This record gives sequence, structure tokens and C-alpha cells, in this order.
Amino acid sequence: MAKRDYYEVLGIKKDATQDEIKKAYREMAKKYHPDVSKDPDATEKFKEIQEAYEVLSDSQKRAQYDQFGHAGAANQGFSGGYTYSGGFPSFDDIINEMFGGIFGGSRSNRGSKARVGADIRKSISITFEEAAFGTEKNIAITKLDNCKKCNGLGAESSKDIKTCPQCNGSGRVVTTQSSFFGTFQTETTCPNCGGTGKVITKKCSECNGAGRVRTTSTINVKIPAGIDDGQGLRLSGYGEAGTNGGGYGDLYLYVSVGKHEIFTRDGLDILLEMPLTFSQAALGGEIEVPTIYGAVNLKVPAGTQAGTTFRIRDKGIKSGRSSKIGDQYVTVKLITPTKLTSEQKDLFRKLSKTDESNDTIFDKIRKWFKK
Ligand SMILES: [Zn+2]
Ligand SMILES: [Zn+2]
Repeated sequence: MAKRDYYEVLGIKKDATQDEIKKAYREMAKKYHPDVSKDPDATEKFKEIQEAYEVLSDSQKRAQYDQFGHAGAANQGFSGGYTYSGGFPSFDDIINEMFGGIFGGSRSNRGSKARVGADIRKSISITFEEAAFGTEKNIAITKLDNCKKCNGLGAESSKDIKTCPQCNGSGRVVTTQSSFFGTFQTETTCPNCGGTGKVITKKCSECNGAGRVRTTSTINVKIPAGIDDGQGLRLSGYGEAGTNGGGYGDLYLYVSVGKHEIFTRDGLDILLEMPLTFSQAALGGEIEVPTIYGAVNLKVPAGTQAGTTFRIRDKGIKSGRSSKIGDQYVTVKLITPTKLTSEQKDLFRKLSKTDESNDTIFDKIRKWFKK
């Protein structure tokens, strides 16, 4: 089978920026990553996507590809006629990589011996309505947590923790070396206690001295109303347990919002395409329009043109964070009737005879043809 163009695979333009490439890749991952996709061909499709991304996200490989096409990519020396054969990152990893951009880098540790626990990154999918109104989700988290038996000490009891005899609790040792040039002193981390200044004489039987064990627990997370696709939540202190009193890391939740059957979102505004019949558009009247809060009546003036957009105030999404509220924009789509009864056909014929006299734009076109 002929290889598809990499740009086409990711659905991007030839001049796409790295950000656009990343974004397209993320969107594709949401659709086709075998971890989340129900598509029976997801694995094959995602392999193609992964390959396209690996080439286009690397400026050198991309330049080769732009110049010579698939043959160029092959000449670059990626395993003869570049075909992505290896495994690909998990869906969570892909999302995590994008997280770097959303949340920035990691924090520094408090003190040299105390280490803050690692941050955890997870993705969750919610529906359009859940995002609009806010929701609560139970999320299972597997992480390194403090051992319940020893409270993170790593010892059977506090009496089993002794000051390290090698460094006398300082965590540093000084070694003296004599050479032809003189005597040198170097200070290094104590090899006996690893710099903590303490040694465990009797290890906790549960965690074998590590102080931390891998646990899975379920937490309940409140997701605020108005959250949008691609946004994240930071849950401070819900990450992994630290070592030597370093405290907990954070939990970052990446939120993926599903598509709605009829509504689309633009920030806090909601967009809707509303069908309108010829007679409604011509004569005007009230039409019933769905909103996320239920149906409302919208007055359509006589002579409404296709593509006209009406604003319904305050029927957009209410943000739980800023208490701002969006509007709903209704764009009218004219429906051309396809199955006409003979009576309706008669009416349209009668109508078409009157058309000629009342439309100035047609007059203009007619005049233009006569020129
Ligand atoms: Zn020591
Ligand atoms: Zn323990």
C-alpha cells in the first residue's frame, strides 16, 4: 500500500508550526490511540500517526521529508524506508508530555536530603454536559505512599533508627588523600547512610526499610463547571510521598472533554446550527431553540438570510472559577425541501412566478449578463 503523506496523516498544512504539529498529534491520539480508541484498526492507524509525528516533530527529519518525500525519510537512515515498527508511548505518556507545556517544570526540593514526592499526571475524559455543569469523579491512583505500618520511617519503631556511626549524623564524610603534591581532602555523601545521617537497625517488615509502598487508592475529584477540553487541574499534595520528610508531590489531571451531538464550544460560548424552513425564514416567527438549560423561544425576523447568527444572552457556560457566563450563538441553516407533495409543488411554482419581481439582487445579475 502506498504511504500516505505525513501532513495528510496528521491533518495539518505543510507550513504547520511545531505547536500545531503537537496539537494535531494530541488530537489524533485522543481518537486513535489503542488505549482509548474503539476503532478496530486503531493500532494500525496510530502507528501511521506516530510515524508521521516522529518525522515532522524532528526538524532535520522533516526537512529531509519535505525535500525528498518518503524516500528522503528513508535516506536519513531510519531503519530502511522509515516504517514505525516499535511500540509507541502510552496514551497517558502522550498527555503527560503535553502537560509540561501546561504546567511548566518541576519544583525544587526542600533541603538536600528531603525529597518531595514525584508528581502524578493522569488524564480523564468527561462529557460535554459534565464540563458545562461541573462534576465529581472517582479516580483510582496508583502511587508510592508512606508505609502505613511505620509512617514512612522505614524502621520497625523509632528506637530502630540510630545516628549513622560513619558520619556521626552529618551525612557527609571527609576523605584525606596524600599524594606527591600534598594532602587533599574531599567531602562526599556518606556511603553508609546515603546522606541522611541515620541508619535503620531493624527494617520495617512491611516496606523493607523503604518507608514507602506502592498503593492504589480512589480519590473523589470535583471538576469545576466550565472546564474546557485540554485544560488541567492541579491537586496539591495528591502526588507521591516524599522521602526524609520531603512532603507529597502534586496530582495533575488533564481533562479531555467529549463532543456534543448538537452543541459546540467556543470558550464559555456555545454554538448551535439551527435548521430553518423557507417559510420560517421568509415570514419570520418564533422558533424553539435547544440550550443546555432547556428549550427557549427565539424570534426570527421576516426575511432572515441563511447563515444569520443570533445571540441568546447568558445561555452559554457558567464558569465555576470566574462566575462569568457565556452566550449561545444560533446560526440559521436553511433547509431546502426535498420531498414535496403536488400541492406544495404548485405553491412553489406560483411563488417562483412572483420571485422575478421582488428580488433586486437577481435584477443586478440579469443586467450583468446582458452587458
Ligand atoms: Zn552516614
Ligand atoms: Zn514500613
